[in-house]
This record gives sequence, C-alpha cells and structure tokens, in this order.
Amino acid sequence: MTGDEKTWLLAQRAQRCVDRLSKHRFDAHYLETAEEVAERVRPFLEEATTVGFGGSDTVRSLGLHTLAEEMGKELFDHHRPGLTYDETLAIRKGQQGCDLFFTSANALSETGEIVNMDGIGNRTSAMGFGPSRVVVVAGYNKVASDLHAALRRIREVAGPLRAKSLGVDTPCAITGVCSDCNAPMRICNITTILHRKPMLTEVTVLVVGESLGY
Ligand code: SF4
Repeated sequence: MTGDEKTWLLAQRAQRCVDRLSKHRFDAHYLETAEEVAERVRPFLEEATTVGFGGSDTVRSLGLHTLAEEMGKELFDHHRPGLTYDETLAIRKGQQGCDLFFTSANALSETGEIVNMDGIGNRTSAMGFGPSRVVVVAGYNKVASDLHAALRRIREVAGPLRAKSLGVDTPCAITGVCSDCNAPMRICNITTILHRKPMLTEVTVLVVGESLGY
C-alpha cells in the first residue's frame, strides 16, 4: 500500500466519523489541512470573551493560544510556564465556565462518539457542561472503528504516549504498556464518552486530514 492509499483510507474513515458525528447533532466537519483550523474557529473566537484550553498538544501546535491572545481574549491556559499550583487550580476551575473551550480528543469513533480520558478531570468536565461552545480538534489518526476500539486506543496508544510526554511516574511511561495501574500520577482516572451532543453545550468537531497529536 502506498502513502497515498493510506492517506485515502484514513480520510475515508474520518469522513465516516464526521457523517456519524453530524447525525449525533455535533457540528462536525472534515478539514483537509491543519492550516484551515484557525480560520474555521475565528468566528467563535470573535464571539467569545473568555477562552479555555484543555491540555492538548494538537491544539497547542495549531497556534490557537496565540491567536486568542492576539484577539485580546482572556485565556484560561494552565500550561503557561511559571504558574503556581494555586494559579493552575484557579485556571482549571475557570475553564469550566468560559465562553469557548478548545480541546482535542483521545479518540473518535467511526460510529460517532468522542472519547477522552483525564487524570484531573478539568478537560473532561468542561467538554460536557459549562462552556457555551466546545471545539474539539483531532487529526485523522485519532479515528477508531467503533467505541470499543476507541477505548482500546486510549489504553494502548494515547495513554502511554501522554504519560511519556508529561514525564509522569506511571508504568506505561516506562514500558509503553498500560497495566491499569494505581499510580498516584495515573493520567486516566476519568473517561468520558460524548455519545450525542450535550443538551446545553454547542460542540464543534474538526477532524483534520493529517496526523496530529497521539
Ligand atoms: S492506567 Fe496507568 S499504566 Fe494505564 S495508561 Fe493510565 S497511567 Fe498508564
């Protein structure tokens, strides 16, 4: 199989995911390139005063923090360097009531579910209720065939890689294998599944035809 064929296959899966997410009342779109994300979310930023960011390498790599800052928005970004514990705690709480919340997904399913895991829960909580609009940006590498495969993806891929990137003291950060640990720094204490659009939250899902994050 050539690279082109692999790209085609992933794009087909992503399209099926978008179609099914749309049926589940999510505002879902397929974008061919990551460059299109900023323009797509600009209208949401223009409407917002406060903007929260869940921990996400994907969102950070797209420059959305910088764009929000340049547009004069109040940011709730707990990954800013130099913050104290109390400051990060206040920011995580602030994310729960912001106008616009950006995050990625640990997995999407072709059957139309959005699956995430958290160690603390600020991101998973904000996705379901609180912000007026949530924007989920995910590369097509995050699309699994069904809900079962999406949950497995988190245990086998997203969890160990996230733990490794954060440098936390968990078994998977050493072995690359999830052992359903009891480590104090376990990063997957909470798993949320958005089966359908939450009643009081607008959720936009942008599935990008590129590999983003893990
Ligand atoms: S349960 Fe523990 S070992 Fe498994 S992915 Fe989460 S942090 Fe890693």
